[in-house]
Amino acid sequence: MKLYSTNNPNLTVDFKEAVFNSMPQDKGLYMPVSIPAPDADFIGNIEKFSLTEIAFKVAGDLLQGAIPERDLNAIIEDAINFPAPVLRLNSNTYVLELFHGPSLAFKDFGARFMSRVMSYFMEEGEKMLNVLVATSGDTGGAVALGFLGVPNTQVTILYPKGKVSPIQELQLTTNGQNIRAIEVDGTFDDCQALVKQAFTDKELNEKFRLTSANSINIARLIPQTFYYFNAYAQLKREGKTDVVFSVPSGNFGNIGAGLLAWKMGLPVKQFIAATNVNDTVPSFFKSGQYEPKPSVATLSNAMDVGDPSNWVRIMNLFKDDLQEVKKVVTALSYTDEQTREAVPEVFQNYNYVVCPHTAIAWRAIADYREESGDYNSTAVFLSTAHPCKFPDIYEGNIADNIEIPGQVKALEGKSKQTVEIKADFNEFRKFLIG
Ligand SMILES: *Cc1c(COP(=O)(O)O)cnc(C)c1O
Repeated sequence: MKLYSTNNPNLTVDFKEAVFNSMPQDKGLYMPVSIPAPDADFIGNIEKFSLTEIAFKVAGDLLQGAIPERDLNAIIEDAINFPAPVLRLNSNTYVLELFHGPSLAFKDFGARFMSRVMSYFMEEGEKMLNVLVATSGDTGGAVALGFLGVPNTQVTILYPKGKVSPIQELQLTTNGQNIRAIEVDGTFDDCQALVKQAFTDKELNEKFRLTSANSINIARLIPQTFYYFNAYAQLKREGKTDVVFSVPSGNFGNIGAGLLAWKMGLPVKQFIAATNVNDTVPSFFKSGQYEPKPSVATLSNAMDVGDPSNWVRIMNLFKDDLQEVKKVVTALSYTDEQTREAVPEVFQNYNYVVCPHTAIAWRAIADYREESGDYNSTAVFLSTAHPCKFPDIYEGNIADNIEIPGQVKALEGKSKQTVEIKADFNEFRKFLIG
């Protein structure tokens, strides 16, 4: 598999290099040189395949031998060891549940696959891989649990003290083994700044093999295509083939993977990019001007992104032509007030509890239908996290209806292990050097 930089199509690297470096020197993003179309036979018979069988096929086509088939299949079997079911809510509305992995968020697909690919590519006698990651909540949990026990890797997670939910904090801080958590007396931006500075520090880079498990890593994007194919397979079994996906979007990695699947030939009618008030992309659709802005804090905090890093990839898929993007993507944004209203509405309609991110994706379907007049397609909204991770927004009856999954019960009684630091690079540096 060859990949090029979105800033320079002539700069190409192989898959292994793209995995370890995340980003090309020229600050573009890696994109596959060729996007293979799986044989028509596969799409035509997709309903006959399981999630892992679909993943073998799609990953095999994309990687084009970068990892031998047997090894790739073993990685997938180990990484994608939880389901991604599609549930029927009414005759033309379905939900795709992506929260059955260890951290209860869709980021498990990307983090588990990437960690295993990195471990696979590390050769004997190579220096241990040191993963540094800043998190506002969900990324850290997925990365921590994704790398937990993966040989020859050590993960250091920085999170803002007092600013992640109790379950998120336990997921970050109770792992032990090769996972360490640092509680930073500051904001998420401070955490991110510390990590960024570490990557530019000469001595740290000499001493350690640093990498960033970043959401722009191509090895996080690839496994997210699997569940789009698999959702389509499940719907086809129910006789539904006119499909619209509504995706709660922040950094636009999830929807980017959906669009990659579409480019590979998955027959999706439309994608809805549903954002909170961090509406850089919906505004771009309206004005034609891409204007990144500082992020604003919302209830759906995993989508508080003012300059979505994967947007470049999506434009690149459409040769930077916004009119072409608009044929396949609808972009809509919602306020916290609308999010708060959507949660009980979903509950009253279907006796189903959604997390605040998922609520936005559901809400966008009604507007898409009204704007486009397309009431017949089957609309599927992606449920990106389990509601128990965001307990503050639920009241009475709804709170009582949230089932506590086994992954959370397993955290009970475990005690938090962290090191606390100020938002100060020297302190962070000292900790790393040890
Ligand atoms: C990360 C995250 C999102 C946003 O996904 P992107 O790929 O960044 O667009 C949405 N919902 C939840 C729960 C998340 O953790």
